[in-house]
Amino acid sequence: MQHNRNNNCDKVAITMKRRTTPTKEAVMAVLTSTTKALSQDAIVQKIEIGIDRATIYRVLNQFCDDNLVHRIVADDGKQYFAVCIKCDQQQLPDNHFHFRCTSCQSIECLPSMVHFSVPVNYQVERVNCILVGVCKECGS
Ligand SMILES: [Zn+2]
Ligand SMILES: [Zn+2]
Repeated sequence: MQHNRNNNCDKVAITMKRRTTPTKEAVMAVLTSTTKALSQDAIVQKIEIGIDRATIYRVLNQFCDDNLVHRIVADDGKQYFAVCIKCDQQQLPDNHFHFRCTSCQSIECLPSMVHFSVPVNYQVERVNCILVGVCKECGS
């Protein structure tokens, strides 16, 4: 089976075109190279051109503001980043579960929508649902 990893995601490409810099391109290339969410440290390690951490963090925040990337604060206290739009799969619901694997230390976005209810007069601004366990790659 042939798998084309260079398939460009149209929506990412269009939004990126607004003002693309080598730094933005490098960070986005790292994020789209995996189906998993990456910690800032992992992103810094994967980028080969010399960009300082502060710049990478600023770019990640910008991507979050543009809704290209979402931030996951895991139960281990670290921040992880994942692209919102994936070319080869359906778009994720806004509120979805995240799965943290204790074996390979990765975080994955699950396509499962989060359903919940809150008492009257409570307004939910953010949802952070982390499931912890063993992922399908580590479990099989
Ligand atoms: Zn795993
Ligand atoms: Zn996610």
